[in-house]
Amino acid sequence: MKFIAPVYLQEFKCDGSLCGSYCCKQWKIIVDENTKEKYAKLPVKEREKIFSFIGEKEEEFYPLKLNKDGSCPFLRSDFLCDLQKNFGEDYLSNICYSYPRVTTKIKEVIFQSLTLSCPLAAELVLFSGEMFFVESENIPARMGWSVDLGKRVPIGSENAEDILSAGLYILKDNHFTITERLQMLFVFYVKVDEITSNESKLNELLNSVESGHFQKNFLNENTIINENILFKKDEFLNLIRKLFDIIYNANITDEKFESLTKIYNDNYYEFEEFILNNSQIFTNYLMNEFFMRLYPYAFKESFATNIKIFILSWYALSFSLFMLYVENGLTKERLIFGVRRFVEKTDHGKGVMKNILTLAMRIC
Ligand code: SF4
Repeated sequence: MKFIAPVYLQEFKCDGSLCGSYCCKQWKIIVDENTKEKYAKLPVKEREKIFSFIGEKEEEFYPLKLNKDGSCPFLRSDFLCDLQKNFGEDYLSNICYSYPRVTTKIKEVIFQSLTLSCPLAAELVLFSGEMFFVESENIPARMGWSVDLGKRVPIGSENAEDILSAGLYILKDNHFTITERLQMLFVFYVKVDEITSNESKLNELLNSVESGHFQKNFLNENTIINENILFKKDEFLNLIRKLFDIIYNANITDEKFESLTKIYNDNYYEFEEFILNNSQIFTNYLMNEFFMRLYPYAFKESFATNIKIFILSWYALSFSLFMLYVENGLTKERLIFGVRRFVEKTDHGKGVMKNILTLAMRIC
């Protein structure tokens, strides 16, 4: 087994007093079977108190009965968790133990990163400079909640890790604008789809990304780019309209769309410059998102479809940030807020990613 994670992960420290215990208030909190069994072995008084807050089983989990204000019944006024304080970290349910860590397995490799719905994680990931990854044989004793992509997705190639790394390599290359990197990423994975069962051709392609040769030559591949709606400038706002319906239930009327188009045209170049000047922040967002969902494998569809979903999600986030920018500028706090709000919708909104997938499948 091998463990791969961004270096920043070692620096993350949850501190409810800094975020107002954000994650203990907003969402459904669930207890897994193993943790429930641990509670069952506690002395009667403690056990009965805990069990009085555990609801009826839903699928594989037991939801906690939250307080009227939506907060966790175990959240103390000092923003600490009563269960952790009294019995130790081991008594946290898998989801509470894990969050905001996201753990995914493919075959013998475990990948772990942070989701940016946690404001402290968002600050750390976006503002820690260049992103690096570490590999280790030391597997954390308790992983918490994890997804096994090897089971969910048919991983045909033996080069799964290299196919993922090549995407990160492309995303990291700040010799190119973010738009160019995303186009490059798409072209790369279209090619991987075409040759995925041809080991030698695949290795050749992977090597060409590592040597930078692929990146240098990608502009010659503009037929793939030019032909796809995803990259047509005059289609961008139509895509945003559909995405905002999916993500924010925005239901943009024709009148509103007209005014959005004007706002966009008036401010587009200024915002592009803002992205360019803060390229590292957005590069980190993209790399984190790509790595966290293991994007080329996130959905069981083709690599190219996965990348379309990745790009559409970026379009939606960048437009949400654009609106914040136009409204009142984008300070560090507003940027973290915008990213966190978006990630919350895509991570926790029912069916959001599935609907983005449906949209991606229609785009060609
Ligand atoms: S995990 Fe993040 S959101 Fe939850 S309490 Fe810790 S710092 Fe706050």
